[in-house]
Amino acid sequence: MAAAPENPLILSFEEARHLVEQRATGLCTANQSRPTETVDLLHASRRALAEPISADRDFPPFPRATRDGYAVRSADLERLPRTLEVIGEIKAGAAPDQLPAQLQAGQAAAIMTGAPAPLGADAIVMVEYTSRQGNRVEITKAVASGDNIVPTGAEARRQDLLIEAGTLLDEASIAVAASVGRSELRVYSRPRVAVLSTGDEVVGINTQPGPNQIRNSNSYSLAAQILNAGAEPALLPVAPDESRRLKESIEEGLKSDLLLLTGGVSMGKYDLVEQVLVELKAEFFFTGAQIQPGRPVVFGRVKDSKYFFGLPGNPVSTMVTFELFARPLLEALAGMTPRHLVFLHARLKSEIKTKTGLKRFLPALLSGEFERSEVELARWQGSGDIAATARANCYIVIPPDRERIAAGEWVPVLLR
Ligand code: AMP
Ligand code: MG
Repeated sequence: MAAAPENPLILSFEEARHLVEQRATGLCTANQSRPTETVDLLHASRRALAEPISADRDFPPFPRATRDGYAVRSADLERLPRTLEVIGEIKAGAAPDQLPAQLQAGQAAAIMTGAPAPLGADAIVMVEYTSRQGNRVEITKAVASGDNIVPTGAEARRQDLLIEAGTLLDEASIAVAASVGRSELRVYSRPRVAVLSTGDEVVGINTQPGPNQIRNSNSYSLAAQILNAGAEPALLPVAPDESRRLKESIEEGLKSDLLLLTGGVSMGKYDLVEQVLVELKAEFFFTGAQIQPGRPVVFGRVKDSKYFFGLPGNPVSTMVTFELFARPLLEALAGMTPRHLVFLHARLKSEIKTKTGLKRFLPALLSGEFERSEVELARWQGSGDIAATARANCYIVIPPDRERIAAGEWVPVLLR
């Protein structure tokens, strides 16, 4: 399907997102053959796991007390207060031969959090509800069978799958790896993502810009987003708005696993990116989405293999369209199972008036504490306003059919 530039293919946000997710899922099935490497667990954060992690034993491996107190037989506490005989003390890490014998009716054992409950005990009474005198303890609160004890194997059985291959490793999955004794993990090698900013006015960040030039911020915001998604950015020199040199740069960028272009995808006379991609026999999946910021976003593929995104040059458009469209594909290339977008809802602090027709993702500030969070639009000068966006911490999502949203309404929010 050659859609651009003669034959534009503008999709709704949902259609465009769905299309990218489908392509990403297609890449995932090819992941088995992706290169992998072994990393130390301390360096595994934000890498994509290339092997499953299973339980090497039952979790917990013994019936674990979750409170400091007394291990009891709950049936002994039908009438309160009740005085029980204390037959021993169980510390966390107690060797099996240090454990008291099986609890008999009328007996209790002092026990610490993380220690194994003794045979015969079916609950722990928290120390707060007890008073001890010598080898006797008075209990003032009843417990139900099972209270404050996690039974052997309740969290996982030996050989159970704990973390699937394709998971982006975070602190919780790293804790799981540590708990099953994995000091090294097999992860997918990071894909290389070429970043090509375009525009005659755009100069390198170590150059003093002329009066009408601007520094290249997009390559750097994209590099940050790429790293965050578990991939390796490769920044190419800024390409001018000139077909021949643009083509050379694009060809260079297509040597990487994915190419992200910024700028040059709007309707201007010197927006040449799509033309050059047509010359390179690109296939276009879409050449625009009904969103703001980021309407001219382009997604396609060259020679049946290399995917590219043409992201609009306005810095906020670049950031938003990366999150909305490029991220799932990049996650798939990184060996991950791409994650769905997660929206939370917050109360709108002040009224929003807008025009219908586009789904908007506008920089906003989420504030407030606990269950009272509120959100309001950042004051900004449009999708070139990086400073306002940097002060914001999320995007309010405005559906295309809303002209006015009243203060107090719940609105969807995309966190940044
Ligand atoms: P374009 O998409 O090329 O029409 O650019 C839209 C706007 O984004 C223009 O104001 C550009 O100057 C600006 N812009 C384009 N590329 C970059 C970049 N790499 N860094 C910062 N701003 C850019
Ligand atoms: Mg431009």
